[in-house]
Amino acid sequence: MLIFNTLTGREEEFQPLQSGRVRMYTCGPTVYNFAHIGNLRTFVSQDLLRRWLLYRGYQLTHVMNVTDVDDKTIANACERGVSLEEYTAGYAQAFFEDCRRLRLQQPERVAYATRHIPEMVELVEKLLEKNLAYRQDGSIYYRISAFPKYGRLSHLDPDQLQIGHSVEADEYSKDNPRDFVLWKAPKEGEPSWETRVGRGRPGWHLECSAMSMKYLGDSFDIHGGGVDLIFPHHENEIAQSEGVTGAPFVKYWFHTEHLVVDGEKMSKSKGNFYTLRDLLDKGFDPLAIRYLLLSTHYRKPLNFTLEGILQAAAALRSLNNFLLLVRTCRDAAAGNPRIGEILQQALARFESAMDDNLNISGALGAVFDARYDLNALAESQGLFAGDRERILTTFGKFNALLDSLDLEGEDTTDAQVRELIQARSDARRNRDFKRADEIRGQLLQRGVILEDTRDGVRWKRIG
Ligand code: AMP
Ligand code: ZN
Repeated sequence: MLIFNTLTGREEEFQPLQSGRVRMYTCGPTVYNFAHIGNLRTFVSQDLLRRWLLYRGYQLTHVMNVTDVDDKTIANACERGVSLEEYTAGYAQAFFEDCRRLRLQQPERVAYATRHIPEMVELVEKLLEKNLAYRQDGSIYYRISAFPKYGRLSHLDPDQLQIGHSVEADEYSKDNPRDFVLWKAPKEGEPSWETRVGRGRPGWHLECSAMSMKYLGDSFDIHGGGVDLIFPHHENEIAQSEGVTGAPFVKYWFHTEHLVVDGEKMSKSKGNFYTLRDLLDKGFDPLAIRYLLLSTHYRKPLNFTLEGILQAAAALRSLNNFLLLVRTCRDAAAGNPRIGEILQQALARFESAMDDNLNISGALGAVFDARYDLNALAESQGLFAGDRERILTTFGKFNALLDSLDLEGEDTTDAQVRELIQARSDARRNRDFKRADEIRGQLLQRGVILEDTRDGVRWKRIG
């Protein structure tokens, strides 16, 4: 399996540090507000990666943090006049609700920053001991001049480094690399902790180094987030962690490109954002949104439009209508050997595309080609019960990634539709065309259209 590594700037053969086992860390949400769907794109791509690792049989330990203390959470909690804990708890809960709606698998461990202050303090102590940190005006800063590898991940020009200049904010631009804050002096009205390095609170970058190493060790396999985290966040994590341990921190850095609106990054500060809630309130299907967010390769910008969600919904519907046809096909034993060939080829294409740095377009291409070919066979020769299991098994494998396909046997709504169709056929046989038309109307209201074919009545769902 190939994976692109931001650290080397190349696609590399994926080989975890321990054979058969993968340790992976995702920079989680900052819970100062609802996540927007740009944020969620990054989490969907992390979900795709984790699902593919599981598909390939790795034993996975995936950790994601929740940033529940940083400049933004504190500023908002103060503004609203509530405690930091009270403020962040609601947004953390909302984030996990969003994840569930988008069918994101829960990482093996979720780590909250405020519950790991002792681990952070320990890191700061070690950095002070090694002279990689210094105190200034009650805060503690990282001395980037003492870490010669600084800038490797984000390919910074070492001449740009502003030796001896420090910056207190968690976020700052790449044009201005400086000594960043590890531990912030307490401020009036802000939360702080009494610790061995003094009273204060952690800087954002410190949080992820401490939590990832606690659960995954000094060196682990994959660390991910959006591309905006490469500098300064991930650069600073490397400086902190490697500064303390002397060991390579992360083998593969995995970054997701931005979701954009009219060419601009979706962000809270630009005001060009939708939350998942906004979209669900407009009546969009969360699974169509999941499909939209995963269907563009993670290293390409995704241009977001509402029209795009409708197209995603149509794509998903066409797959599910096909599966409906499969689930309800006629009960005759014989199977068609051609179907086995189509499925085998589709699965091979799907897997090799995903092994190629998660080439989702190639993988989805294989799924849709299979649907097209099988549908054509169904129209010309019919589908039979003997084919049903094989088709559902292969689409079940596709669904290990998509998690939006209807593979189960007839559900109750399917059964109700079948009853109505039967009632309509009976009415027609009794030449009660008024009743038959009424039933057709009822079905249409449920989003079901009928097609009278020589094999009987077929039905499918519309949007
Ligand atoms: P935050 O909650 O601000 O810490 O961001 C959570 C994640 O969303 C991070 O990995 C960011 O890199 C990512 N992110 C922020 N904006 C976007 C965007 N427009 N498109 C994709 N990912 C984003
Ligand atoms: Zn992080």
